[in-house]
Amino acid sequence: MSPEHRTGRRTGGDRSPAGRAAGHATFMGMPPFPEAAKSATGDSQLRHNLRKATRTIRDKRAGVVGELDDWSDLRAAGKAIKDRTLRHLDGYLEQLEEAVTAAGGRVHWAADAGEANEIVTGLVRATGESDVVKVKSMATQEIELNEALAQAGITAYETDLAELIVQLSDDLPSHILVPAIHRNRAEIREIFRDRMAAWGVPAPEALSDDPRALAEAARVHLRERFLRTKVAISGANFAVADTGTMVVLESEGNGRMCLTLPETLISVVGIEKIVPTWSDLEVFLQLLPRSSTGERMNPYTSTWSGVTPGDGPQEFHLVLLDNGRSDVLADEVGRQALRCIRCSACLNICPVYERAGGHAYGSVYPGPIGAILTPQLRGTASEPEASLPYASSLCGACYEVCPVAIDIPEVLVHLREEVASSAGHRAEKAAMGAAGWVLGGERRLGAVQRATSAVRSLAPRRMPGPAAAWTDTRDIPDIPAESFRSWWRREGAAEDADGGAGGERGGQEGGRR
Ligand code: SF4
Repeated sequence: MSPEHRTGRRTGGDRSPAGRAAGHATFMGMPPFPEAAKSATGDSQLRHNLRKATRTIRDKRAGVVGELDDWSDLRAAGKAIKDRTLRHLDGYLEQLEEAVTAAGGRVHWAADAGEANEIVTGLVRATGESDVVKVKSMATQEIELNEALAQAGITAYETDLAELIVQLSDDLPSHILVPAIHRNRAEIREIFRDRMAAWGVPAPEALSDDPRALAEAARVHLRERFLRTKVAISGANFAVADTGTMVVLESEGNGRMCLTLPETLISVVGIEKIVPTWSDLEVFLQLLPRSSTGERMNPYTSTWSGVTPGDGPQEFHLVLLDNGRSDVLADEVGRQALRCIRCSACLNICPVYERAGGHAYGSVYPGPIGAILTPQLRGTASEPEASLPYASSLCGACYEVCPVAIDIPEVLVHLREEVASSAGHRAEKAAMGAAGWVLGGERRLGAVQRATSAVRSLAPRRMPGPAAAWTDTRDIPDIPAESFRSWWRREGAAEDADGGAGGERGGQEGGRR
């Protein structure tokens, strides 16, 4: 994959926080999956990094999942809770709004990315601050919040270690859980040494690529930021409707620093993140750590309901984000994608993801879940999105590991149908319609077969135009001199006349034609 493709569209060369206000990497302008994947599979370093990381995580996951006798029951419970919640989503959303408001928070509704960015930018401006710290959040990446804030002169500082690596290198995330999975230790050391100083406390001159040294450099760099930034932005893994509680699960504790130290907290949360009660939450607190990081229990689980005087942020805003989710909900097959709890298990098991990497999917949601979620959220009108449902071998491994039993292959096939019946596939549709008409009538079929046999010597060996890609790797079968039906009429009649003696011979010859 070319550096430009690997890091998306970049509109400026200055990679300092100020420079990013003018230019930054985004997924916009990425090529369709086949093109991006072809390029990525030629990058042996990328393939090595991905193979090593995904195999380690998936082996760990398999070990801890195998410990539980009731894993399939937990999985069925997770699926049932999510389905029930999605069926009554309107009611639960209103319940959540009431509970958050009663607890001292303010709820904002955002129909799309533009509205969400406008709301958050306005809220940050109202504080008078120009810096914010961020908890790792897929929703804010989906709406490109950092870029919108930068346009308004507000710098967002990522505090998750992997997100920090991505931000410092002006790169793009390539994995839901481990956004810098495509980087190895040596690359990370170079990024820290070259870029940390432009964003705050520099990395030590003699920084090694030892994981402890890298973590310590990040800790020192971030600590200063935590202590002086007054506004934080987060997402949430879950939102409990009956108490208005937000829940964030993370492994480093950096998220908790953002959720407790600043004066103002703004959470951007997709409307599908709701669970009705704490009892429902209990199921997901068992499913998520085992499926994502392969841990029995999550290291840092932070929960908060509104504001508490004298304790933590004194201003809390919840931005509920639709951004295409209502459309997904309206699709009876596709809506199961909204059950996703972003564990990444489907990415780590996927043979396509392991070879192509996350950037090839052209979205913050890579891998199998990205292949079904992105085309649904953005539609399939443009080529990059229309190519995603085909980014799969349909092996079904993603469904097997999904903790909420999303039948990803079923949705992929459903979306392929949608793409195939869209305007962009008119020629294919017309060809299938004509074939259906010919095959639907015996006399029509006979006439076409006779006509085709008569001009068989003129048949091309290669299809013309865009269809040439099909025959580049396939042979067009020879057109027989006569159809089986016509042969059978003649030979079958002869067989009847000689009492069936030629039956076996006729069958064998017929088989060879
Ligand atoms: S689709 Fe399933 S396996 Fe994939 S990230 Fe979502 S919950 Fe995890």
